[in-house]
This record gives sequence, C-alpha cells and structure tokens, in this order.
Amino acid sequence: MKHILKLIVITTLIFGPAIAADDHNHKIIPGPQGGKLLESEPQHAEFFVLSNKKASVTFYDDAMKPVAIKSQEVKITVEAKSGKVALELEKVGDSFVSKTTLPEGDGYRVVIQIKNDAASKPQNFRVDYHTEICKECNRAEYACSCDHGKEGAHTGHKH
Ligand SMILES: [Zn+2]
Repeated sequence: MKHILKLIVITTLIFGPAIAADDHNHKIIPGPQGGKLLESEPQHAEFFVLSNKKASVTFYDDAMKPVAIKSQEVKITVEAKSGKVALELEKVGDSFVSKTTLPEGDGYRVVIQIKNDAASKPQNFRVDYHTEICKECNRAEYACSCDHGKEGAHTGHKH
C-alpha cells in the first residue's frame, strides 16, 4: 500500500490528478517518465521514447525508484514497415539509450528484450508504438495507463 500511495503522489505531481480510480485486477502502472512500464522481473523497466526520438529503458525497484544498471542486458528491436532493425544501445546515466532515433512515424511494433544478467532467461515485451496523445491520461498512446483492455480500444494488450 505504501508503494501505491507513493506512486500516486509522484504521478499526481507530474501529471496532475489524471490517475483513474481503477479496481480491476490488472492495474497498469504508469511509467514515471511518461513511458510504458514493462513488468519485468525482478525489476520493473520503463520503455520511454525521449523527445529526440531515441528509445530508452530504465529500471525501477519496488518503490519505483530508478536503479543503476548493473548486470542487466537490454535489446530493442524495431519492427518497422521497412524491416526489422536492432537498435544499438549505450548506457546514459541509469538508462539504456539508443544511439540512433526510432524510424519516422509510428504504428509499428517495438520489441524490448530484458535479461537480468547474461545467464538469465530473456524476457520479451512488445509495445505497439503510437504517439498520439490519449485524451484520458494525457500520455502518448504507447504508454497509455488507462485500462481499455475490455473495450478493445487498444491493440497492445494481446497476451
Ligand atoms: Zn490513456
């Protein structure tokens, strides 16, 4: 409960009181930077596209505090219409950031592969990259934190 409260406080500070009361079992935690939170283990990770269109991944502990990169390994593959592209990543502060920008436009899939260390099992996350702003949460659609799963308003939740 403490964690949830802290998260609500942080989110409220950054985004205003946009968090919806939501009692569904699959709660979507908004990425602290405005990106998409990936439910990786043992740490959460946030996929966030910077304003310069470079992709980034940052890890968070249970209290949603950013944690430094230690042994984690990340691969980002963009499935653009022109073909699959693996982005080269570099460490910038506590994040992995792509050396190049994402392809023009949006509407393509980005696959983020996370390994906690070189020996651990890869965890894959698929994000449908859409940049239009959601009217409900004011976040880019790829990082939307609304629970639209039941209405099928979003295509990014096929598990
Ligand atoms: Zn939304």
